Amino acid sequence: MASAIWTNKRRLNIVITAGPTREYLDTVRFISNPSSGKMGYAIARAAANSGHRVTLVSGPVAIAPPPGVMVIQVETGAEMSRETKRAFKSADAAILCAAVCDYRPAKAFKRKQPKSTNGLSLLLVPTEDIAASLGKIKEDRITIGFALEDHDGPAHALAKMQRKRFDAIVLNDLGNLGGDRASAVFMTADGEREVWPPVSKAQMGRRIIRRLESLIAGAAGSRTSQRRPRRAK
Ligand code: C5P
Repeated sequence: MASAIWTNKRRLNIVITAGPTREYLDTVRFISNPSSGKMGYAIARAAANSGHRVTLVSGPVAIAPPPGVMVIQVETGAEMSRETKRAFKSADAAILCAAVCDYRPAKAFKRKQPKSTNGLSLLLVPTEDIAASLGKIKEDRITIGFALEDHDGPAHALAKMQRKRFDAIVLNDLGNLGGDRASAVFMTADGEREVWPPVSKAQMGRRIIRRLESLIAGAAGSRTSQRRPRRAK
């Protein structure tokens, strides 16, 4: 399948989210998920190695910051939203790789709750969908999202891409979780579909950046007026 060639090589300003988020029940307890952050960090490293300016908004992970990447550490979905939106203002593109908690406790206790032999019921409320929020303000920015599904993957990924206004989505294989290798189906809003067999996450990161570059080159080429670079931070 033909993709635009990245001839107009210029330094892009890319914001990437990675890792899990935490939503606190009280001062010490939280709900979260086992996202390792490896994929997002590999993408950030690949982008920086390709000469791009990268802001990585990262939930708590045990990975050293990639060289040349500005890492902003966050914990909660609200913090990730605030920092991602701030970086997105001056960005050309966003890659939303974080496993953001979909729910948070409706009320967080201000003090550590003593253990009790009684049960504890928690009311959970939805968190903000950061990707969907960016979709509403993206204008000509390119966004790439991720989907992890255990059934009907392509249909769900397609629906997510449309709902969140992604230009492309990486449909992750469940087996990718936490490991060092990844396989995926890469789908674009223009209807392209590429099956990517297992490779290292470093290779997958490079591939995603190449596809982002081609999406940006294609978007610039399809406009009559020249796309203006966004102001660097
Ligand atoms: O709807 P779902 O969570 O499966 O969508 C996954 C995509 O949306 C990923 O790109 C993820 O980073 C992003 N997302 C987000 N904020 C959320 C939930 C998901 O940015 N609250």
